[in-house]
Amino acid sequence: MVGASLAVALADLPLRVAMVEPLALGSDAQPSFDERTIALNAASQAIFETLGVWPDMAAEAAAMRSIHISDQGRFGVTRMQAEDYGLPALGQVVPTRTVGHALFRRVEQAEQIDFLCPARVQTLDTGDADQVRVTLDDGRQLAARLLVGADGARSQVRQALGIEAAIDDYQAKAIVSSVASQRPMDGRAFERFTATGPIALLPGPQQRSVLVWTQPTAAAEALLELDDNAFLARLNAGFGRRLGRLTALGRRQAYPLYRVLARQIVGPRSVLIGNAANNLHPVAGQGFNLGLRDAATLAESLADALACGQDIGGGQRLSAYAQRREADRQATAGMTHGLIQVFSNRTPGLRTGRNLGLLATDLLPGLKRRMAVRSTGFAGRPPRLARGLPVQTPEPQRGQGV
Ligand SMILES: Cc1cc2nc3c(=O)[nH]c(=O)nc-3n(C[C@H](O)[C@H](O)[C@H](O)COP(=O)(O)OP(=O)(O)OC[C@H]3O[C@@H](n4cnc5c(N)ncnc54)[C@H](O)[C@@H]3O)c2cc1C
Repeated sequence: MVGASLAVALADLPLRVAMVEPLALGSDAQPSFDERTIALNAASQAIFETLGVWPDMAAEAAAMRSIHISDQGRFGVTRMQAEDYGLPALGQVVPTRTVGHALFRRVEQAEQIDFLCPARVQTLDTGDADQVRVTLDDGRQLAARLLVGADGARSQVRQALGIEAAIDDYQAKAIVSSVASQRPMDGRAFERFTATGPIALLPGPQQRSVLVWTQPTAAAEALLELDDNAFLARLNAGFGRRLGRLTALGRRQAYPLYRVLARQIVGPRSVLIGNAANNLHPVAGQGFNLGLRDAATLAESLADALACGQDIGGGQRLSAYAQRREADRQATAGMTHGLIQVFSNRTPGLRTGRNLGLLATDLLPGLKRRMAVRSTGFAGRPPRLARGLPVQTPEPQRGQGV
């Protein structure tokens, strides 16, 4: 999805873009098009609005107007409300299938994009100073001024470039499903930390809520073995009664969780974006949002290079792009990893501190605002597309910005 988002963002620039995708549209194996429903934050929604693809997603989207965060068995809670930040919604919950189809439809319509599918990048050669060469699994060869690896957490491009990544296995799985409840969600999202992992319930399409329940691997596998009634009983016990009883369950799917942070995101005439650069725990719903900001910022950088007649794959420009992304990557990955570290630790002193921390976050508007700005995707210098501006908009020069 992140690669397709970049291709759509580049569609109006004077560039020829080849997008390589191994899995045909609608394939069940397509990781970007599976049963998941993801929370797009306000900046991501704005990016899709500026790109003109949001109308194709809006009918399936459910607005998230508030987030309620609590710790099972403790009194501390924190709440974030869209209206406190002048936003109509903190984000939108959309099936990934809907997002994927909207993007791929646009890719197929764009004259500037050669959509090579099914095809897989097999080898690449960065030995030539002026171009990077790619060989596909069907034998075709491509040469380009820039290669963008948006090929997911196990990125073959990252490996072929010899870029190392820090990998943390959370030894946990996220169980994803849809749930019906006695009381309506009314645009509220809930994140409840329990002794064994967080339970997130997001407002979903068609009056259902979206469940993302993280458990240690063995416990998750045991939960997957239960029938729906037994599973719901365990879920009700963990989540509590904020929505009355949780009454019905959709199909369950589980995802192993691990964090990948590439040690660098650019190489010779090459860039890594999305999960290829940063694969995060889903607890804060930030992975795709972060990847979309990679794509939007890279599109802006390439537009600026073209506007001043520069090489889009030049080392200086790519370094400036990497520098601009660093603060957002580190802060978003740090916030996500930090939540897991703090809330998975059950030592009594830390639990009390955490409880006070939730209370403090709720009571200190400055702290909560900083968290909200980061979660909605507007921290630092957001990409133009998130500010409603086309990628080609010239901006006043600032330092070595891209
Ligand atoms: C349970 C769960 C819930 C989540 N919830 C949220 C959420 O609420 N909000 C959020 O922002 N994020 C969420 N995420 C994270 C989000 O799903 C990912 O960050 C996002 O899907 C990453 O997109 P991507 O395009 O970078 O990678 P992928 O979706 O992994 O796509 C990689 C693409 O590369 C292709 N590919 C692979 N190998 C090759 C090759 N050799 N050559 C060419 N193409 C190749 C694949 O076919 C695929 O199309 C969640 C993740 C999980 C597991």
